[in-house]
Amino acid sequence: MNPAENVVNSFQGIAVSPGIGIGRVMKLAGSGSVAPDRIEISEAEIPGEIQRLHAAVAATERQMIALQEELRDRLNDNDAKIFAFHLLLVKDNSFLGEIERRIRADRCNAEFALYGALNHFQEVFSALKDEYLRERALDLRDVGARLMDNLRADSAVLMDLDDRRVVVAATLTPSETARLDPAKVLGFVLENGSVTSHTAILARSLNLPAVVGIPGAALTNLCAADRVIVDGFTGRVIVNPDSRTEEGYRLKAKAADEIHSRMIAGAELPPETIDGFTVPLAVNLDSASCDVSFLKRSGIAGIGLVRTEFMFINSSRLPSEDEQVEIYKKLLIGAGDLPVVIRTMDIGGDKAAAGISSIFEANPFLGLRGIRLALRERRDLFRTQLRALLRSGVFGSLRVMIPMVTSVSEVWETREIINQVSEELESEGVEHLRDFPLGVMIETPGAAMIAGDLSRICDFFSIGTNDLVQYTRAIDRGNEHVSYLYHPDHPSVLKLIKAAVEGARAGGIPVTVCGQMAADPAQAVLLAGLGVNELSMVESAIPLVRRTIRSVSMYDAVRVAEEALKCARTADVEALLGTILRERFPELGEL
Ligand code: PEP
Ligand code: MG
Repeated sequence: MNPAENVVNSFQGIAVSPGIGIGRVMKLAGSGSVAPDRIEISEAEIPGEIQRLHAAVAATERQMIALQEELRDRLNDNDAKIFAFHLLLVKDNSFLGEIERRIRADRCNAEFALYGALNHFQEVFSALKDEYLRERALDLRDVGARLMDNLRADSAVLMDLDDRRVVVAATLTPSETARLDPAKVLGFVLENGSVTSHTAILARSLNLPAVVGIPGAALTNLCAADRVIVDGFTGRVIVNPDSRTEEGYRLKAKAADEIHSRMIAGAELPPETIDGFTVPLAVNLDSASCDVSFLKRSGIAGIGLVRTEFMFINSSRLPSEDEQVEIYKKLLIGAGDLPVVIRTMDIGGDKAAAGISSIFEANPFLGLRGIRLALRERRDLFRTQLRALLRSGVFGSLRVMIPMVTSVSEVWETREIINQVSEELESEGVEHLRDFPLGVMIETPGAAMIAGDLSRICDFFSIGTNDLVQYTRAIDRGNEHVSYLYHPDHPSVLKLIKAAVEGARAGGIPVTVCGQMAADPAQAVLLAGLGVNELSMVESAIPLVRRTIRSVSMYDAVRVAEEALKCARTADVEALLGTILRERFPELGEL
C-alpha cells in the first residue's frame, strides 16, 4: 500500500530500518572524508560557533595527550616527534585563525569552515618542494579528522530539542547514532550507508525508521523549517508533503502497526517448526549497558551477541576494568540463567574511534579490525576487557566471542592471553571465572574455509553475515552505491554458510547466525534448513521470525536450502524464499 503523493519533492533511497516517521528536520553536520554540510549561521551565532571550535580543540588536545601517555612505552623517537608535532598543529595560530576567519566571513558552521581550511592548507603543503614538508599534509589530515570528530560529537550531543525530529545528515557514524537521544528522533535520512552499516543496525535496534542513499544535493537544500516523511518500508522520503499525503502516510503507519500486532500474536509460543524442531532465537544487543528485563517474559533463548565496542568508541574516556565489571555483571545478573555471548571489542572498519588507534589506514575494513587490533595494537585494552569479563563471569552464564577471526593462531593467542589474565587474577586473589565457552565469529570466506580447523579449538561459532557478505562479494557494507549487490542469500554466501556449518559439525560445536540475515523471516528459514542451530537478532525482529519458523516444517526448510544451494543467482534463491513468506503471510504484501 502506498499513499498517493501530491508533493513538491520526493526522493527514492534505500530502506534500511522499517517504520514511518513524520516531522520537522534536524540537520547534523557531516564529516569524515565526506564534505560536511554548510549550515548558515547568523551574526549573533558567530561567537558561539567559535567557542564550539575552541572546545573541540581542547578536547582533541586532551585526547592526544591521553593517547601519548598510553602509548608512551611503545613509542620510538620518531613517533614521539610526530605526536609532539600534532599537538603543535592542533593549536597552531594560522590553522585556527583560518578556521575562525572562515566562520566569520562565510557565516558558516565550524565543521564547514574546518573542512575548507583543511583543503586550503593541504593544497599549500602539497605544492611545497621539500618532500618532508609535503608529507606534513598527512599530519594535518590526521589532526583535522580528530578535530572534526570532536566537533561532530558535539553537534550530535547538542540535540537539545523540544520536539522530536527526523535526523538528516550526509553520514552518521555509529558512535554519533548511539549518542543521540532516541526519544528525540523520529527517523533518519542519510546520504551514505546501507542495510548492514552499523548506523542502520543501531536504527533498527532503536525501532526507528531509516532511509539511506538520498542524494547529497537533496539533503543540502533541507533546513530545520522543512517537514519530511521518512518511509522505512519503501525508502521514500517526501519533503514538505501536503496534508493529504501526510494523512495517507499516517494511515499507512497505523496499518503497519496493526499488521505487526497481528503477526506477533502468539509470541509466547516456542519457535518450533510444525514437525517439532526448535530453532532457538536469541537477541543482539548494541550495548552492554541495556535493560534486559524483557528477557524473562519473552521466551528468548538468551543474548546471542553483545557489541561491546560502542562502550569504547562512544566515550571520550576509555572504561576502566572496574567500570566494565559493573556493566557486564549487571547484564549477566539481568539475564539470569540464560547464556550471554559477549563479543570482545570489534573496533575498526566503520567503528573507528578517536584516541584508540594511532594508525592511519587507507582500507580500514581490511585493516586492524576486531581481534587484529586487539592482538597487535591495543593488547592493553584487550587484557583489561578480558580481566573484566572473567571477573564478571561468576555472576551468570558468560560466553566470550572473538570478532574477525581469520586464522587459528588468533584463537590460540587469545587463549594464551586468557590464561595469563586468569593466572594474574588468581595470584591477586580475585574471584573470577576459569572456564567458559570461547566462540569464534565466522565473518570472512577465509574463516568459513577453515571452519573445520577452527571448530576444534573453540566452543561455538557465530556467523556474522553482515561482514561475510561484504568480504565474500567485495562490497563495502556501508556503501550505498554497491548495495544493489548486497544479498545475504547470494549462492556464494550460502555455500560459505554451509561450509561453516559442516566445519562446526566436524568439531561437534553449535553454530549461531547473528548477522542481519537471521532477522529476515524467509532467510531465517533458509538458515535453519542449512543446519544453523540458533538465530540471534534485534529484539523487534523476533516475533515475526518466530511466527515464520512456527509455520514451516524443518523438512521443507532443508529442501529449500538444498534447492537454494543449487541456484546460480540471488533472484532464483529469492523466488524460492518468496514462496515461504508470500503464500503464508499475504498481508505482508500490503506494506
Ligand atoms: C556481522 O558481521 O554480521 C555481525 C553481527 O557483526 P557486526 O555487524 O557488528 O560487524
Ligand atoms: Mg561483523
